[in-house]
Amino acid sequence: MISYSEANKIIEEELGKLEIKTELVGLLESTNRILAEDIISDINLPPFTNSAVDGYAIKFNEEVNKWKIIGEIGAGNYKDYEIGDGLAVSIMTGGKMPPYGDSVIPIEDVIIENDKIELKGNSTYKKGMNIRKAGSDLLSNEIAINKNIIIKPKHIAVAATCGKTELKVFRKVKIGVLATGDELIDISETPGKDKIRSSNVYSILSAIKEFNQIGVDLGIAKDDKNEIRKRIEKFIESDIDILVTSGGVSVGKYDYVKNVMEESGVKINFWRVNIKPGKPLLFGTYGNNNKTKIIFGLPGNPVSCLVNFILFIKNNILKTLGVIEDQSFIAELAEAIFKKDNKKHFMRGFYKKDSDGNIFVNRVGTQSSGNLAEMGKSNCLIIFDEDKIKLNKGDKVFCIPI
Ligand code: AMP
Ligand code: MG
Repeated sequence: MISYSEANKIIEEELGKLEIKTELVGLLESTNRILAEDIISDINLPPFTNSAVDGYAIKFNEEVNKWKIIGEIGAGNYKDYEIGDGLAVSIMTGGKMPPYGDSVIPIEDVIIENDKIELKGNSTYKKGMNIRKAGSDLLSNEIAINKNIIIKPKHIAVAATCGKTELKVFRKVKIGVLATGDELIDISETPGKDKIRSSNVYSILSAIKEFNQIGVDLGIAKDDKNEIRKRIEKFIESDIDILVTSGGVSVGKYDYVKNVMEESGVKINFWRVNIKPGKPLLFGTYGNNNKTKIIFGLPGNPVSCLVNFILFIKNNILKTLGVIEDQSFIAELAEAIFKKDNKKHFMRGFYKKDSDGNIFVNRVGTQSSGNLAEMGKSNCLIIFDEDKIKLNKGDKVFCIPI
């Protein structure tokens, strides 16, 4: 059985062969997509030296504390005024600075009388104050945003000011989701004697939606070799990049997924990882006409299924697209936690911040990988490493928000 980090290494390497193309999308449409080009500014930011406040543009001279107002410059309404000693121009935030003007005194710091201003007794001023110099934020032709980030409103602001109406982003990865199991029924039905609703399809499709890729519902297959084979072969023929199956990958009599994959020509890169939840995880690849397809067989237990999707699929797809943001954080255990094996555990936990900003985390519930209501009450996974069986109250642990 391979370790968590070995499994991730293999997945990362195989996902790298997917060849994810790029496309141009409108600026607003690029929100939450992954940027595939560096954004270069075509202008200095700001483009001209301007005032950072509403106030009076002056030429600095420490001997002077009274000025005569000789004119006004509004934002976007520049007029040429030559400012000499003792002269000031009323200027608005964003107004272009006139020649010789090197400082702006805020309106709040002066007493105004007709066309004269005087510095208030308790106010001081410094050379260069309240000026935004041309190019002080970014120079023309410099990189304004580095590629491989998830595009957020702050990036849209930068791209907009650089005049980008379209951005090059990575094409969305298409992920098919197939549930397997004779016990599964659609969620609109009420379970009879031995059936359950197929919640995994929804948790996985929702997780795909959350990180803005394309999920394709491939329905429910019975625990029937032929039926599963047909679905896998259909996936191989399709334009779907990644197949995620749920259930049927363990050691039960009707766990056919691995066997059928092998018979369909899928290379099994690994089966079973030394983790909890999700030990039976299966990972395979299919190569055809220089096109790689990826297959993840997730365990059917609802907790294992979603936790494994987050740990192995979502995080590695993002890595493949160059996104290195890591959401994990360190918290202090509010109670001791135990385990009995040498697996790496991802325990459902609940973290809280105290008024000083310290983060404390508790374990939630029984940790059964079938208890999905329990998972719904947690807000993170507590990472409990292979080589430990006890972590003490007060120990620092890594957590992953879910
Ligand atoms: P399996 O991995 O097929 O052995 O299934 C393990 C457990 O997960 C069983 O209790 C299944 O009933 C349950 N399970 C399998 N598929 C799903 C699904 N799509 N939604 C919810 N539970 C499932
Ligand atoms: Mg099953």
